[in-house]
Amino acid sequence: MGYYEHGIPPVRDSRLKIGDSYTGNACDLVKCGKEGCLIQQGRGFWQAGACHMSLSLMMATTVENAVIVMHAPGGCGALLHSLSVQSAKGKGLRGKTPTTVPWLSTNLTEADVIGGGEKKLRETIEFADREYRPEIIFVVVTCAPSIIGDDAEEVVRNARLHVNADVASIHCPGFRSRLVATAYDTFYHALLRGLRLQPRPWIDFRPIDASDPNAELAEKKYLYQKSHTVNVWNATSISFADEQEVERLLTALGLKVRFFAEFSNRDELRLVSEAGLNVSMCNVHDDYILKFLEETFGTPYIIAGMPIGYRHTRDWLVTIAKHFGLDSQANALADYEEKLSIEAVEPFRKQVEGLRVLICGGVVRVGAEATALQELGLNILSIRAYHYDENVDPIFEDVAEHLPDVPVAVSNLLFEMTHQVKTLKPDLVISHAGTQGYLAKLGYPSVQLFSPDSSYFGYTGVYHNLRKIVFELKNNSYRDRLSRHIKLPYKQSYFEGSAFKYIKPLNTKK
Ligand code: SF4
Repeated sequence: MGYYEHGIPPVRDSRLKIGDSYTGNACDLVKCGKEGCLIQQGRGFWQAGACHMSLSLMMATTVENAVIVMHAPGGCGALLHSLSVQSAKGKGLRGKTPTTVPWLSTNLTEADVIGGGEKKLRETIEFADREYRPEIIFVVVTCAPSIIGDDAEEVVRNARLHVNADVASIHCPGFRSRLVATAYDTFYHALLRGLRLQPRPWIDFRPIDASDPNAELAEKKYLYQKSHTVNVWNATSISFADEQEVERLLTALGLKVRFFAEFSNRDELRLVSEAGLNVSMCNVHDDYILKFLEETFGTPYIIAGMPIGYRHTRDWLVTIAKHFGLDSQANALADYEEKLSIEAVEPFRKQVEGLRVLICGGVVRVGAEATALQELGLNILSIRAYHYDENVDPIFEDVAEHLPDVPVAVSNLLFEMTHQVKTLKPDLVISHAGTQGYLAKLGYPSVQLFSPDSSYFGYTGVYHNLRKIVFELKNNSYRDRLSRHIKLPYKQSYFEGSAFKYIKPLNTKK
C-alpha cells in the first residue's frame, strides 16, 4: 500500500532524507544528506519553532469557497485571523472575489480530551455545511485529537455521505515532524484524497460523439491542446507578480499556463489531470503530488529549481522547453530578455556590487538567491537554510560548484541568526519574511527573501530585487534609531565562539 492510499499522510522525516541542524559547506552538506547522517545532527539547545499546521493552513486558506474546521483546542486556529486577510488579498490580486475564510473550531476542552472529540467534530462539519454551503470543507486535525486517538478519518468518511461539500482532512499535528515542509505533503494529501482531480463528463466537457464526421479532428485538437498545457504549481511565497512573469515567459513559447493549487476552486481543481506537463516552482514544495499525478494520470513533471537570477531562469526555461522540443526558442528568448534586463539593472548593479551579504530562509531560495547574487557581483558571506531534504540536492550541488568556500548552515533558529549578524557584520541581510523586525532591532539593513507582494522570478524579478536592495540601503533612519534604543536579551558571552555551537551529532553524550 503506497502513501496515497493511507488516510493519514507520511511525514518527510520518514519519506525523505532530511535534516534541520548542520554547519559546514555545501559540498559536505549534500554528501551528509545523501549518506543519511544529516538526520543524526541535533542541538544541545532548541528555540521554539513553527508547527507544520501553520503552512498547511496557509495553503488551505487560499482555496476558494472553502471552510476550515479546526479539530483542536481554541489556540491552534489563532493564525487564521491573519491568514484570512492574506488570502483575501491574494484572491483579489488574481481577479477573484476577495473573501475572507470562514473557519470554525471544535474548541476542545479538558473534558473533550478525556472523553473524545469525535461527536463535536461531526457536528461542526455538519454545521459548516449547513451554514456556509461551501464547496470544500477542510478538516484540520491537530495535536490534541491525534494524541487522544480520535478517529477523525472515520468521522470525515461518514460526513462525506451526508454533507453537500467535499470533505478533505489535513492531518498536521505539530509533533509528528521535525520539518515544517511536511505541511506541503499534508495539504496535497488532503487534495488528492478528498477531491476529484479529473473532469466530469457533461459538466466539464462534452464527450466526443464517435459518429460525428468531425470526431477525429476534434480528438486531435483536444490532444494537442492538452499536450501544450502546463500546470505550474504555485506556493504562498510566490507572488502574483511572479506568476505573471512565469506565464509571460511560457506563453512566449506558445504554451498554455494554469496555476495550481493555491487560489483555485473545486471546479478548477477537477481540471488538474488535463495537462501535458506539471511544473513545480520549488524543489521542496510539490514532489509529493506531482508523483501522484504521474502515477495516476500519466502526466510527466519537471522540478527544475526556481527561476531566480539570469542563469537559473535560463536553465529553468530551457528545461521546460526541452520537453516540448522548444529549447532553441527558449535560448533565443533568454538571450533577448537578458539583454534588456542587464541594461535596465545596470544603475542598481553598480550600487550593490561588492556588498557583503548574509542569506537566510527557505532552502531552495537561499541557494538560488546566493548564486544569483554572486553572478551580479555581490559577495556572499554565509548561507543559512531553514531545513534540508534530498529534493534540494541539485540546488546545493550548484552552490558547491559556484560558492565552494561559503559557509552553509541548516538552522531556523533566531538566536543563531542574531549571532551570525552580530559576528559577521554583513552590509545586507536577505532573510525570510517575518525576521525583518529582529534585523531592524540589530540595526542592519535587510530585504525579504520572498514576499507575496513583490517580484522575484525571471527578468522582472532581478530588476525589482536590486531596486529593493538599493532602496533599503538608502533608507536607514528607522533601523538606526530603533537599534540605539533596544536592549537585546543576550549576554555578551553568547557571541563568543561559533554561531552554531549548539549543533552536535545526536549520538554524542556531551
Ligand atoms: S503544535 Fe499542535 S497544539 Fe501547537 S499549534 Fe501546532 S497543532 Fe496546535
